[in-house]
Amino acid sequence: MSDSTSIWGDRDLHPVLAEYLADVDPHLLDVGWSFETAKSVEYGLTDQSMLNHVRNGVFAIVWLNEIAPSFDAHELSDDELRKVVALFAVHDLHKLRGEQEMDEEYDIEADEVADLVDALGVDSFAPDLRIETFHACAVDHANTWNSNPEHSTRTYDRLRPYVRLADAFASCETPEAATVERNQTGLEVAYPGTDLELRHHTLDDVKGVFTNLLNGAVSHVLEERFGYERFLIYQDGCVYLTDEDAEMTVDDELIGDVYDRLQSDIGDSHPAYDDHDALADNLSTQSHGFYTINDQDFFYAGARNLLYAVAVKAKQDADPDSDPTDSMAETMETLNERLPIDIDATTRVAPGYARLVYTFKRAFVDPLVDAGLTDEDALTVTCRLFDVDEGVLDGLREIRDDEAVDLTAGGKWDYAYAVGQHIADRARRDHWQDVPGEVAKLLITNLDALDEGWDDIVMGAHAGQFETELRAYIGDVLRVGGQASPPTAEMDELSDPFEAHHATRRGKTCTFCNRGTTSTRKGDMKAPKSLTTLQAGYSNRIPADAGQPEKLLVCTPCQIEFSLRETGSSRRDAGRLFVHLVPDYFYTPTMWDLYADEIFARFTGEAMTRVGRLASAMFDVTTTEDRDRADETPISESISTVLREATRAEDVGGRSMIEQLQNGFDPDAGFGTQTLSFYKPQDNETEFQFFGVFVGLAVASTMGLRAYVSQSPIPEVRGRDFSEMVTLDAGFTTVNGFYGREIPLSKLRNRLGAAAALIELGYELARDDARFAKYLRIVRNKPLPGSYLLKRAVQDSDDGGAARYLLEEADYLDRYGNPTNDADTTTVIHE
Ligand SMILES: [Zn+2]
Repeated sequence: MSDSTSIWGDRDLHPVLAEYLADVDPHLLDVGWSFETAKSVEYGLTDQSMLNHVRNGVFAIVWLNEIAPSFDAHELSDDELRKVVALFAVHDLHKLRGEQEMDEEYDIEADEVADLVDALGVDSFAPDLRIETFHACAVDHANTWNSNPEHSTRTYDRLRPYVRLADAFASCETPEAATVERNQTGLEVAYPGTDLELRHHTLDDVKGVFTNLLNGAVSHVLEERFGYERFLIYQDGCVYLTDEDAEMTVDDELIGDVYDRLQSDIGDSHPAYDDHDALADNLSTQSHGFYTINDQDFFYAGARNLLYAVAVKAKQDADPDSDPTDSMAETMETLNERLPIDIDATTRVAPGYARLVYTFKRAFVDPLVDAGLTDEDALTVTCRLFDVDEGVLDGLREIRDDEAVDLTAGGKWDYAYAVGQHIADRARRDHWQDVPGEVAKLLITNLDALDEGWDDIVMGAHAGQFETELRAYIGDVLRVGGQASPPTAEMDELSDPFEAHHATRRGKTCTFCNRGTTSTRKGDMKAPKSLTTLQAGYSNRIPADAGQPEKLLVCTPCQIEFSLRETGSSRRDAGRLFVHLVPDYFYTPTMWDLYADEIFARFTGEAMTRVGRLASAMFDVTTTEDRDRADETPISESISTVLREATRAEDVGGRSMIEQLQNGFDPDAGFGTQTLSFYKPQDNETEFQFFGVFVGLAVASTMGLRAYVSQSPIPEVRGRDFSEMVTLDAGFTTVNGFYGREIPLSKLRNRLGAAAALIELGYELARDDARFAKYLRIVRNKPLPGSYLLKRAVQDSDDGGAARYLLEEADYLDRYGNPTNDADTTTVIHE
C-alpha cells in the first residue's frame, strides 16, 4: 500500500499513528470494514462501522498516551503503543463470524486469528507480537463472562488494560457515555496511582459553523480556567481529561467567559475578519457624508479593525482627481472664510477624509459621550482625538454658536471637512506612506489614552444585542458534566417558543430553529439585508402565510450561523440540499485536524464533481468483495477515487456541486460538526434529490461519517437523535422509496451500490439527469430493472458491445434496486 493513495495526505503525526494510517488502515478498507457493523441499530445501538470502531480506538489510545503524561501518568513506549494498536485492530474478530451462540462467541481457533492478522497486515506492523498474543486478545478483550482469559500471554496481560480502554472509548456514542464510571475505572486500571478524571461538556443545539466555534470557546475556557485537556470531540460536545476534581460551576461568570472567548475567537478564526479591505467593502456610503457599519461586522471584527476599515474606505474616497459637488465646494469655502486653515475646495480629498471623521464621530465618539466617558462634547472630543489644532477647534466651536451658519442641516456634520483637511495636511507633512494605518494608529493611541474602556463601550453600543442574545443562548444550551446554568437574567428574558406561538400567530420564534429571543421587539429578529441572498435559498422554510422572504424571523444565533456561512462558502443558490456530517462516534483532536485539513478542505466552492466517474468508483467500493475479478481495484484506492472525483480541480471538467460551509475557518477555533451544501441545476425535484442524496452519502460514507440530509440549512436533528448511519429529512418524499428514510449501516452498502449502478446504466443511455425520475419509476415497477435498462442501452448502441461492461451493474440493480425485496442485505451476492 503506497502513501500516494491515502486520503489522509502526508502530515506530521505520531509515528505509530502515521504507520497505522499508511500500513493498516487501508487494509481495513480493503476487507470491506466501512460497511461491516461493530455496533448496529439492529442491536439497539447507534451504528458504527468496524472501520470506525478500530480507527476511534486507535486514535483515542494514541492521543490518550500523548496527553496522559502531562498529568504525571505513565507513557507507553512507541513499541508498546504499536502492539496495543495491532491487538486492537483484531480484537473484534468474533463480530465477523456470523451468527454464533453466546457461549461460543469467543471459541475462536488460532487459525482464524492468523488469517485476520494476515489480511489486516498487522503482523508486519507489529512484528514482535506472537500469534498467541493476538489470539489471547481476540478471545479475551471484553470483560465478560464468556471470554476466555486462560489463553492469555504475558504480553497481553500487560497490554490488556490499554486495549480495553481503546475499546471502551471507541464504543461511546456520546460525551456523557464516554465519562461513565466504568471508563473511569478503566483509566485507573491502565494508569494506577494517578488521579485522572474524565469530564465532558455538551451543547443542546446544533447549527453548524457557529456550533463549532461555541464548542471551541467552551473548550478553550475549560482548558484555561480548569486545566481540562481536550480528549474526544463529538458533534455536540467534548470529553476531557483532567487530574483533579476541580470545583466547576456553570454560572453567569462561566457563561461570560465563554461569550468573551467566542466573540474574540470568531474575529480571529477567519482571515476575512481582519481583512481591512474586505471590511471596507462592507461599508455603505450615506448621502449625509458618512458610512454605515453593519452591527454584525462590529461583532465579528471588533472596533479596532472597523476603525481601520473606515480609514481604508475614506482613503479611497479622498480622490485628488475628482471634483467636489457644488454644495461640498460651497461649504468648504464657507469654512475657509472662518477658520485658520486652508481647505482645498477644488478636489474630493477633504470630503473623502471627512467621511471618516463623521463616521468616527457617529459610531465611536457619540457612544463614548453618551456613556459619560468624557465631560467634553462630541465635536471637541472628535477634534482632540484627531489632534486637530486648537485654533481650528476654537473656530469650529464659534461657527457652531453662529446662527448664520448651519453645518448640521439635513443630518450632515460639515465640521468634518476641516478635520478632513487636517488629516490630508498631516499625511503630507509627516510623509505617511500608509495613511489608513497611520490614522488608525493615531486614533487608537488617543482613544486608549482617553480611557482603556472605550472599546467595550463602542462594542456595547453596536453589538450589545448580540451579547444579550448570545449569553442567553449559551446559558440555555451549555451543560458541563451534565450541569446546566441556573437561570440568568438573559435567559429569563428568552421568550418561550410555545407561548409565543400561541400569543401571536407566528410569535417571536425563529423560523429555522424555533428558538425564542430575548428581545421585546420583533424587529430585532428580522434578518439583516446582508442575509437576503441566503434567504433566497430557503423558500421551503417560509410558512405559507408569511409572504415575502424578508419577513422571515431569524434568531441571533441563526443569523450568526448564516453570516459565518457566507464568509466560509460561495454558494447562494435557492433550493440547495444540506448534508450534515456527524462523526461516527467522535474525532480526537488529531483526527479533526486530519479531516479538516486533508479532506474537508477539498470541498471548496471551486471543486468540480464528475458524477459518472464518482458513481463508477462508488460501485467498486460497494461491490469489490462480491466480485471475482483478477484485476479488481482495492477498495482503499476506489475510496480515494470517489473523493477525487467529488472534488476535482477547476480546469479538468465536471460541475461545481458540493461545498463545505466553513472554508477558511481555523480548525482549532471550532470543531465537531461539518455541513456540505449540494447544488446543481435542477430539472425536476426527483432527479435533484436523487443525485443530491447520492453525492452526499457517497462522500459521507467515504469519509466514514454519519449523515443527516435535509432541505433545511439548520439541522432539525442532532446525531444523537437518530441511530442509523444516515437519515433523510421528511421532504425527500420522491426518493425515500429508493433510499429509505432511515438507512442503517447494514443497508447502506446496497443502497449506495444500487444508486451507483443506476447512474452508470442511466448515463450509458443518455447524459440526461432529467430522465432519472423515469428510471426510478422503472426500478420501482419492473421486476428486473437492471436487465431492462441494460437491454435498452444495448439496443441504443451501435455495436451492442459498449454496454456489456455494465453487466454487473445491471445484475446488482436487479437484485438490490428495490429495497423492499432485498431480504439479504449484507452478504455476498453471487451464491
Ligand atoms: Zn434560530
